[in-house]
Amino acid sequence: MMSFKVFKFGGASVKDAAAIENLHAILRCYPDDNLVVVISAMGKTTNFLEKVLHAYYHDPDQVETLVSELEKQHKDVAIRLVPDPGSILDRIGELFNQLRTKLAEEHSNNYDFDYDQIVSFGELLSTTIISMYLNLAGLPNTWLDARRLVRTDSTYREGHVDWDTTVNQICENIGGHSDRVFVTQGFIGGTAEHLTTTLGREGSDYSAAIMAYALDAESVTIWKDVPGLLNADPKRFPDAVKLDEIPYEEAVELSYYGASIIHPKTLKPLQNKQIPLYVKSFFHPEEEGSVIKSCSERNKIPSIIVKDHQTLLTVFPRDFSFIAVENLSELFAVFAKYRIRVNMMQNSALSFSVCTDAEPDRVAQCVAALHDKYKVKYNEDVQLITIRHYNKQIIDKVLAGRTAILRQTSRATIQFVVVGG
Ligand code: ASP
Ligand code: MG
Repeated sequence: MMSFKVFKFGGASVKDAAAIENLHAILRCYPDDNLVVVISAMGKTTNFLEKVLHAYYHDPDQVETLVSELEKQHKDVAIRLVPDPGSILDRIGELFNQLRTKLAEEHSNNYDFDYDQIVSFGELLSTTIISMYLNLAGLPNTWLDARRLVRTDSTYREGHVDWDTTVNQICENIGGHSDRVFVTQGFIGGTAEHLTTTLGREGSDYSAAIMAYALDAESVTIWKDVPGLLNADPKRFPDAVKLDEIPYEEAVELSYYGASIIHPKTLKPLQNKQIPLYVKSFFHPEEEGSVIKSCSERNKIPSIIVKDHQTLLTVFPRDFSFIAVENLSELFAVFAKYRIRVNMMQNSALSFSVCTDAEPDRVAQCVAALHDKYKVKYNEDVQLITIRHYNKQIIDKVLAGRTAILRQTSRATIQFVVVGG
């Protein structure tokens, strides 16, 4: 099979016409490579479509105002990109007709299903505009519908990939084609019944990994607005440093604890096939960036990962029994049912605590389900701070003046649940 490079461009890298021109300039630096270009929705479009969905359920009068605003934003980008945007505007109009048709129907009462049918338009729009623009600008490419490439089950908002079908579909549509450049959507997939699914927020990285895995690609590059993978968020820690080479295992740990730079599911498929993942700056494409690959970690630079919007749930059996395996298995069954993500957990004789994402609806349902047998205490709006390769100095710096209400230590990792932001 041909050798491919997979590129992923996130929302920030396609947020307006200038950013899309920059994407074009980056692609032009690879005239001899076969490229699969995986693209997210433009800028904050996904958040905006979440607002549309919310209005669809709770405030239908607002729907058209929001949709028109989104249509105008996308059309404005097309108008700025090409002198004669007629064909692109027509295609954008068609996609908005489809979206309006969906929104004119009664909602299904399955919020997650409707989420995927609506929010997926962000990626359909961005890729349509970019693919057509590139074709007009002299970079011939083929647009592919990721819903026919990435097969998932019907777990809406978090589709689980059916790898066999997905690999076949990708190899047939991309591997068996003579074109050089393919443009497709991140984040979205489709069921066997051709219903749209999504892979979870920020899932475009994962889409890129899926494509790379299926094609045995040479590499994946994620183009970002940062110079590479840093050991902390520079907005919080101005002295953050770039990590040049990171072994897969270490990167998996970092993303698992919430380093928002790469979607956690992205790395496993790449590691399985030993495909290196580059993280590079779209402002400075000539610079090195970071690479995640099989390597030994030479200098263990401490990394700090802060997860905001966390809720700490502490449950106490009402019957004064100790926390035992029976309770734990019961609790985990409830967590699984309401998709409570366990970011950290700890037990004592009489209580069990988990730090989870602040998803008020899911948490409320979970608490209600536990109510008969357990008393539940909440701490809302806490932060989960994880430090890999910690030392005393770093802990003191990170915790300075703050209260940790839970702490957990292992050889390489220390975690704190901290009150307030
Ligand atoms: N557009 C989706 C999101 O914002 C997927 C992605 O950007 O990776 O979550
Ligand atoms: Mg994004």
